[in-house]
Amino acid sequence: MSILRELKKRSSHSCELCSSEEDLSIYTVSPYKEESMDHSVILCSTCKGQIEDTSTLEVNHWRLLNDSIWHELDAIKVISFRMLQALKETGAGWAEDLQDMMYMDEPTADWASDGLPKEGDLVHKDSNGVALSVGDSVVLIKDLPVKGSSMIAKRGTPVRNIRLDPDNETYIEGKVEGQTIVIITEYVKKT
Ligand SMILES: [Zn+2]
Repeated sequence: MSILRELKKRSSHSCELCSSEEDLSIYTVSPYKEESMDHSVILCSTCKGQIEDTSTLEVNHWRLLNDSIWHELDAIKVISFRMLQALKETGAGWAEDLQDMMYMDEPTADWASDGLPKEGDLVHKDSNGVALSVGDSVVLIKDLPVKGSSMIAKRGTPVRNIRLDPDNETYIEGKVEGQTIVIITEYVKKT
């Protein structure tokens, strides 16, 4: 039996988060890439879309986390933990309370926080003090001379898919006109 069929059977042909039966597909929880019964779940397009792009979060949709944090599948607990993290960042106080209530064994907790900043990690912040993550997009808020060239990166220039300097929280890297440059965090704004 294919993984998709097995997963659909496990989920009774419904989204394993919100029970919707529409537009179902497999979602594999990072950092895992290969579809498997342990690391993959069946989700509807609403849940999956918002997990993949948390800037589209509809806060009320995620009230479903009240139930899903108690789910028997570790993969669902991991998704729940991460979505609560994203909701916390939007200022949803209930999300913090719910996250505090969660119980996960140690391997699952490690999985859930994989990719999230750990204590002791450097936190890179933009000019407004907003935390930056790998893959974020920013704009320059000031004209910047590019080291080793005559180019000036203009204020307002978008820089997509940034990387963070692991040794210095005031530096990020990103591409401007095809060239990777180091940019000081106080000269950028997250978009
Ligand atoms: Zn759903």
